Amino acid sequence: MIPQLENVKVLLRELLRPLPVILFPMSQQFDLIVIGAGPGGYVAAIRAAQLGKNVAVIEREPVLGGTCLNVGCIPSKALLESSEKYSEAKNEFEEYGIFADVTLDLAKMLKRKDGVVNELTGGVAYLLKKNKITHIAGEATITAPGKVPVGDQVVEGAAILIATGSKSAPLPGVEVDGENVVTSTEALNFETVPEHLVVIGAGYIGLELGSVWNRLGSKVTVVEYLDRIIPTMDAEIAKDAQRILKKQGIIFQLSSKVLSAKAVKKGKKIQCVVECEGKEPIIADKVLLAVGRIPNTDNLGLEALQIATERGRITVDENYQTNVPGIYAIGDVIAGPMLAHKASEEGVACVEKLYTGYGHVNYNTIPGVGYTNPEIASVGKTEEQLKETGIEYRKGTFPFAAIGRAKALGQTEGKVKILADAKTDAVLGVHIVGPRAGELIAEAVAAMEFGASSEDIARTCHAHPTLAEAVHEAALAVDGRAIHF
Ligand code: FAD
Repeated sequence: MIPQLENVKVLLRELLRPLPVILFPMSQQFDLIVIGAGPGGYVAAIRAAQLGKNVAVIEREPVLGGTCLNVGCIPSKALLESSEKYSEAKNEFEEYGIFADVTLDLAKMLKRKDGVVNELTGGVAYLLKKNKITHIAGEATITAPGKVPVGDQVVEGAAILIATGSKSAPLPGVEVDGENVVTSTEALNFETVPEHLVVIGAGYIGLELGSVWNRLGSKVTVVEYLDRIIPTMDAEIAKDAQRILKKQGIIFQLSSKVLSAKAVKKGKKIQCVVECEGKEPIIADKVLLAVGRIPNTDNLGLEALQIATERGRITVDENYQTNVPGIYAIGDVIAGPMLAHKASEEGVACVEKLYTGYGHVNYNTIPGVGYTNPEIASVGKTEEQLKETGIEYRKGTFPFAAIGRAKALGQTEGKVKILADAKTDAVLGVHIVGPRAGELIAEAVAAMEFGASSEDIARTCHAHPTLAEAVHEAALAVDGRAIHF
């Protein structure tokens, strides 16, 4: 019965398409309308469908998956993997007794990256279909609670979830032209390896993409306003990471305020000039602006509905509801770390709270990972935060240089650092720079989620030889009883 009805609706819609929208806008009714098909939106939609709800996802891009799958997490990781393999084959294989002629086919590398992206975005389309979620293509503007016109139809729903994500933040004086002075989106697609790439901003995105092009042969200069890299990271670990990346050839110009960056014509060539306060201008082929991201709220209709924002990000309560009843928001568009897994967790929690009355996100156990080589990962409080808040703590660190598996891998740089409450021994923070730190941090996240002490980790058997033994030894080190160092 229902499929037939659908067919009639589709037929009617096709017949009436030429008529002016104002005369007879088509309307569809849902329990939940999700705006944005990134890791926040599509995951929320699937969870709501699992809970028996009739869900629509509106996405303005032709491909699903949002920033993360199309121009963020996934393509950057695909290029990081390829460039790491290239760099290893070129610079490190001989140490392992392997001799090879190594050449770079950048076009093929980019094609592989696109292939990985396509498979995953296709996977999201499959998942929506499998969960009987209606995908509506087009740009959404909310005109009233429960009403979202998209093109020639009005999508109606009991609840609206805004998951419109973020875009690259501008910087005054930096003239992004998409070709020479670019954002991360274009830096994933340079057709040739730039001779000199200047990265403005030493956060995760700048360091990851700087690493990609550095490995492929670019001179890379990272210019940062602060006197340190990755401001959210534990300072000791960030310092170690900077030292290791410097050894790989990345040049750091810290405490540098960028006044301007633009492409200028020099004869037949185009050059980029980056001017920093009190310093010599830097001349480069390409400039990547990576100073953070700002929420995507243009044309959403927030002002007309008086939806409250703070520094551009939508304000929500503990149920992810905005100040307008029935309109919710999650992910990069609200406060908190701009991370895919944070967006997904919030998406699930939001719809669970809405439809079951219960859902939660533990903001103290959201891991952050930088996929440089070695990786940088953290969860919980940094040492600086503990000092600031006057919480007494004990600290255990352990170097990968003393780990057998790290030696066998030939990746001995870095360490694990565990911070535990001085009185209760509860794990308060874990910070890692080292091989596969992004995988190792999962143990720390699970431990913290279960309220573990450093003693709990110390008394947990870890397989030998594994990199995870560094986590075990760091936990032992909290109590001054590490075995192998
Ligand atoms: P998004 O993924 O931005 O999705 C929002 C969607 O909404 C988009 O598809 C957009 O087209 C759509 N949209 C916006 N407005 C409208 C509208 N009016 N109508 C219809 N559709 C609309 N995070 C990690 O956790 N790990 C990483 O390794 C990582 N690497 C990154 C690397 C790069 C280069 C970048 C740029 C980001 C990276 N991130 C990473 C961040 C991550 O991509 C974001 O945190 C995540 O995508 C946020 O998810 P979201 O669902 O909130 O929004």
